[in-house]
Amino acid sequence: MTTVGLADIEAARARIRGLIRQTPVEASPSLSDVTGVPVWLKFEHHQITGAFKLRGASNAVAQLTEAARARGVVCASTGNHGRALAHAARVAGVRAVVCMSSLVPSNKLRAIEALGAEIRIIGRSQDEAQVEVDRLVREEGLEMIPPFDDARIVAGQGTLGLEMVEAVPDLACALVPLSGGGLIAGIAAALKARKPDIRVVGISMARGAAMAESLKAGHPVQVEELPSLADSLGGGVGLENRWTYPMVRDLVDEVVLLSEPEIAAGIRHCYMEERQVVEGAAAVGVAALLAGKLRPEGPTLALLSGANIDMNLHLRIVSGEDVDLMAEAA
Ligand SMILES: *Cc1c(COP(=O)(O)O)cnc(C)c1O
Repeated sequence: MTTVGLADIEAARARIRGLIRQTPVEASPSLSDVTGVPVWLKFEHHQITGAFKLRGASNAVAQLTEAARARGVVCASTGNHGRALAHAARVAGVRAVVCMSSLVPSNKLRAIEALGAEIRIIGRSQDEAQVEVDRLVREEGLEMIPPFDDARIVAGQGTLGLEMVEAVPDLACALVPLSGGGLIAGIAAALKARKPDIRVVGISMARGAAMAESLKAGHPVQVEELPSLADSLGGGVGLENRWTYPMVRDLVDEVVLLSEPEIAAGIRHCYMEERQVVEGAAAVGVAALLAGKLRPEGPTLALLSGANIDMNLHLRIVSGEDVDLMAEAA
């Protein structure tokens, strides 16, 4: 098996039922006005732990062998995947270790600790944290659960695609945030199996869009990681990428890139018009519509993928401040 298909996604759905929320799909009158087509929003930012990553993590944890369950799981993600894995492991009664560098802000560290994971602080970079992950796999037999490039993760995220077409049977176009591609690979596999001519659009920030650069190059490439309002879309696709790069290449119709002010406008619109608090990565579908970066034809659904934004940053953005994280980091 070299790809994730509908049967894998349906199996994942049965496996994670009861462990995740089936999130609502709501009409957006304001975006329908702007675009002239019916626009729907899927409120996946209401998922447990605040992001869709619980779907993939729960599907992976549910498939551990007895021996692996007894030893535990490990990852190096300090963002939404780390939170999801910590939660999924705790619910399953499995030990979870999250490795991170000493540069990770203490609020992120405490959030993951509060979900029941053990924290290992190692070195001063994500690469050094990954060295500790590899050691724990080798020496203590923990199982690494990666954030996107894993068939169990892709199948879990793909359950969103099934919920989308069931909520909007005449769906023509799906707008999906894109980073490592686990999310869009699973969704595209589900959607295209059910409705082959559905258009699937991936959306990334223009700053450090690793998958977009890889598609252009024809193979996975490394990009410089820069501060962005869509922080959950940062990071590479992995030079040894096995699952998501080929799936995105074969199944995704188009990739759209957004500037920081465009992403800010998406966050602002979600708050002021839809009354929803979403993080930058989750606002990109809405932002692409507002920026006129794609011409939707037919019923269109934007996936709001997560809510985990620093609330002080959110307040500044929705108050209309012109936030430039690059200048602030310099
Ligand atoms: C991880 C994440 C994404 C991107 O998912 P990939 O599978 O890496 O493409 C988008 N939005 C949010 C909120 C995320 O946490």
